[in-house]
Amino acid sequence: MIIRTEKLTRRFGNYLAVDNLNLEIEEGEIFGFLGPNGAGKTTTIRMLCALVEPSTGRAWVDGHEVGRNERDNDLVRQAVGLLTEAPGLYELLNAVDNLLFYAQLYGLSGSQAHQRAEETLRWLDLWQWRKEPVGTFSKGMKQKLAIGRALLHRPRLLFLDEPTASLDAEASLAVREAILSLKEAGRTIFLSTHNMEEANRLCDRIAIFKQKLLELDTPLNLRRRFGLEGRQVQVRMRQRRPGLAESVAGLDFVESATWQETLNGHAALEVRLSDPEKHNPALLRYLLDQGAEVQYVEEQTPSLEEVYLATVNPKEPA
Ligand code: ATP
Repeated sequence: MIIRTEKLTRRFGNYLAVDNLNLEIEEGEIFGFLGPNGAGKTTTIRMLCALVEPSTGRAWVDGHEVGRNERDNDLVRQAVGLLTEAPGLYELLNAVDNLLFYAQLYGLSGSQAHQRAEETLRWLDLWQWRKEPVGTFSKGMKQKLAIGRALLHRPRLLFLDEPTASLDAEASLAVREAILSLKEAGRTIFLSTHNMEEANRLCDRIAIFKQKLLELDTPLNLRRRFGLEGRQVQVRMRQRRPGLAESVAGLDFVESATWQETLNGHAALEVRLSDPEKHNPALLRYLLDQGAEVQYVEEQTPSLEEVYLATVNPKEPA
């Protein structure tokens, strides 16, 4: 367990920013932290990086308790890398000098600093731009360099606070690839993002947070749990067959079956079953026996965005 929190709480005056947060994060995970503006995500990250003291509750990061004493706080800060919303680069300095400056702050020796700077720039495909002032870099190049900077001291755990906010699709992809290659290298990533598609694709588990922990699960489980009662598969076929929806709906393991329009004019039969893993083979056998030309079969779940919105703005019971 690389992060564990127990009733972690932070108040600012009378305002409760983080309320009794209990988390356990395994080493090697990409852990997504989703929540609306002002939810307390940055405050949580700052507590876990020993930059803000918890008001009450406890947290351990890489085995060291945050806020216990200065020595433990230092050990926590050595174990973590942090990329905040502001990348903190010096625009007039070139890429190498930016990294050397931060390497010095991390206490690396001269030769170690040069070696790390070179490794980092090569890994991020920025080596050929190393002598250019960072002010001339694109936003994506700056963001990659900022990730490299946060990793100079080789932390086991990296906190990324909205790393792709305001990046275009190509730059976001480069940052996401960097995140995945860090996971492959065994690092743990704590990712705060407002980009649902990014969270859905990258994260092993996702917490939905708004002062309190509202949900915590894998992206697929979250989407499944928020599905309507029962589970749904969509079977796309070349064309509708009269009577087929009705006869499928009559199968004893099927709860309902209805035709949906698809954009390309093909036919899609949406079938709700209580246990798709168990009954899909029988469903398909039946459809093929009826002469249906099945093209695709897809599990239907709500999008992570729908799950997220329903979680942070729950509907009042009527
Ligand atoms: P965003 O997605 O907008 O970055 P966030 O989830 O990171 O939001 P925080 O920055 O942690 O949210 O802020 C949570 C709440 O705590 C906000 O209402 C903020 O105004 C308040 N807050 C944060 N830091 C302080 C501070 N140092 N003093 C007083 N209030 C603060």
